[in-house]
Amino acid sequence: ATPMSVMVGVGRGAKEGVLIKNAEVLEVMEKVDTIVVDKTGTLTQGRPEVTAIEALGDWNANDVLAIAASVETQSEHPLAQAVVRRARADGLKPIEAIDFNSITGRGVRARVGNQEVMIGNADWLEQQGIANVDEGRAKAGLYQSEGATVVIVAIDQSLAAVLAITDPIKESTPSALKTLHELGLKVIMLTGDAQPTARAVATKLGIDEFHAGVSPSEKHDFVRKLKAEGKTVAMCGDGINDAPALAEANVGIAMGTGTGVAIESAGVTLVGGDLRGVAAACHLSRKTMSNIR
Ligand code: ADP
Ligand code: MG
Repeated sequence: ATPMSVMVGVGRGAKEGVLIKNAEVLEVMEKVDTIVVDKTGTLTQGRPEVTAIEALGDWNANDVLAIAASVETQSEHPLAQAVVRRARADGLKPIEAIDFNSITGRGVRARVGNQEVMIGNADWLEQQGIANVDEGRAKAGLYQSEGATVVIVAIDQSLAAVLAITDPIKESTPSALKTLHELGLKVIMLTGDAQPTARAVATKLGIDEFHAGVSPSEKHDFVRKLKAEGKTVAMCGDGINDAPALAEANVGIAMGTGTGVAIESAGVTLVGGDLRGVAAACHLSRKTMSNIR
């Protein structure tokens, strides 16, 4: 039978916005020594905005934005929604896009009119045979060093624009991380985003270990590796791309603001996506377990 104090603990958690699925989660949480966090939507608000558009070659910014938004209306990625919102705000009308394709963690492609459009990260565009991607990388650097995500638009195999997309850090994130560090927990950030952006965000937040360009299956493998090294791991994430890692972790912690798949894969859900709930869950579990003993 579930001890009374565990039920009390779960109830207290719920009041603080920490929804705990079962007694076992509360038990394991006490032993957690490593917190793995996703960047986008977990440390950041997950509501990115296009903050700069730099057209390249003969292109002008509005034309590229209209074409890019035409493709991104078919993607559910938060970056895609940022592009679509910006185009709408600038009064641009989307054009019909066909043959849409989405490559998880890399980018999207489609045909708009008779143009072949690709939008995504520099490495992927390079693999697709786009020339002069280094020109885009050079333009990207400045924005990335400020923590912005950069996506590159290529039209008919050449660079058309660099879009800087900013996703502000949640107000609660710095204090959440401070408390986790005070509890003696190691915090590691994993992201599908590029290295310079990841570094800027990690530095700003005082996160000592981070890995960029990480695919969903690599997030999962990373958590598995930590466990094999004897670590007890809590993984915090919000997206479909985090679900495998959430399920693999000793404790999966989903942002309540995230996708249903993430929430289903996790043992803990943080109402409002407030990361301070992780420390609250640790406190709660330590207290509950010491009551039982
Ligand atoms: P994260 O782990 O930060 O949530 P993802 O793994 O979802 O990021 O995406 C990684 C990268 O792939 C993005 O930073 C972006 O460069 C590219 N990307 C993915 N989807 C899209 C899209 N719909 N439009 C443009 N770029 C995209
Ligand atoms: Mg995310």
